[in-house]
Amino acid sequence: MQLAGKRAIVTGSNSGIGLGIARELARAGASVVINSFTDAPEDHELAATLARETGADVRYIQADMSKPEECRALVAQAGGCDILINNAGIQHVARIEEFPGEKWDAIIAINLSSAFHTSAAALPGMYAAGWGRVINIASAHGLTASPFKSAYVAAKHGVVGLTKTTALEAAGKGVTCNAICPGYVLTPIVEKQIPDQMKTHNMDRETVIKEVMLSRQPSGAFATVEQMGGTAVFLCSDAAAQITGTTISVDGGWTAL
Ligand code: NAD
Repeated sequence: MQLAGKRAIVTGSNSGIGLGIARELARAGASVVINSFTDAPEDHELAATLARETGADVRYIQADMSKPEECRALVAQAGGCDILINNAGIQHVARIEEFPGEKWDAIIAINLSSAFHTSAAALPGMYAAGWGRVINIASAHGLTASPFKSAYVAAKHGVVGLTKTTALEAAGKGVTCNAICPGYVLTPIVEKQIPDQMKTHNMDRETVIKEVMLSRQPSGAFATVEQMGGTAVFLCSDAAAQITGTTISVDGGWTAL
């Protein structure tokens, strides 16, 4: 198994892309910590299901990624990690002049600052082991912008900058850091935007998906959580040992436009 013996933490992984990545890492043989802030019985059941499905050691650790001390505690409680996937994220859509200040703060904390705090806690162990992979889940919005997503676009551009700095500091230590930049993937974060977009554009669901969302994606199709997981497993492979400080777009051609 490609990742046997490696210990992974995936932040924000009780749904969507994080869960897809956790599943693929476990299928590749890594032991995996999944995380959310909820600590619901379903979160622990999900870890047990993943473990059953994949044969890997999978456990759930609760930590709120909006809180710096909980980000660092997650890594400590996991006993460190070889693979850190910074994935937790939220979205809010509004014009800048109407954007609630507390939403700005929450998006910057969860989508950007959490990756700094978990990386700070995880890197010393990776350096000591001489091997590590930090993979930050940015977005096509880490490379381009859209109106009404000021905090998200700012946070994701910040994640790309953090990725480059982490890669430079880790260079020569067997540790790489890269960002995956997904286009639209049909997960709960995207589902939640559909009713608002239907109202704003006075369109039905199918038309919003085709003409508002996938109009940015030349392939005309959503990317999938399995594709994000496969990309993460590749970045953990030996073939990717010299890939560092870069972004990998999985966006159906969005950022080629
Ligand atoms: P999602 O809503 O399914 O997943 C978000 C995850 O973050 C959930 O597991 C949730 O529990 C967790 N989370 C939220 N707040 C948290 C907190 N305070 N503490 C801990 N965990 C928290 O959405 P998703 O699409 O799977 O998003 C995952 C990542 O991918 C995000 O960073 C998002 O910005 C990014 N992304 C998604 C898309 C897309 O189209 N779905 C595109 C580009 C980037």
